[in-house]
Amino acid sequence: MALKILKSCINCDMCEPECPNKAISLGDKIYEIDPDLCTECVGFYDKPTCISVCPIDCIITDPERIEDKESLYQKFEQLVQDDKI
Ligand code: SF4
Ligand code: SF4
Repeated sequence: MALKILKSCINCDMCEPECPNKAISLGDKIYEIDPDLCTECVGFYDKPTCISVCPIDCIITDPERIEDKESLYQKFEQLVQDDKI
């Protein structure tokens, strides 16, 4: 699954520098996750690092973007191949 940041985000800037895929950026009002870049940290860490650092737990798995570990790993490999991460 790609992850999603909820509207309750307080723009604390904690998650953006921690994302190994550079999938997090500041949107119009709050931080956003690019689902095409988010591998749920598969390829780098055992669990999503953005969730670990968010002080108010406003990052969730996006129910509209369900992907299994294998798909996430394939996405990771493709991103490496395309020189995006
Ligand atoms: S789960 Fe990992 S790859 Fe996805 S946005 Fe969070 S830190 Fe980035
Ligand atoms: S760590 Fe949480 S509250 Fe802080 S900017 Fe990221 S999503 Fe928003």
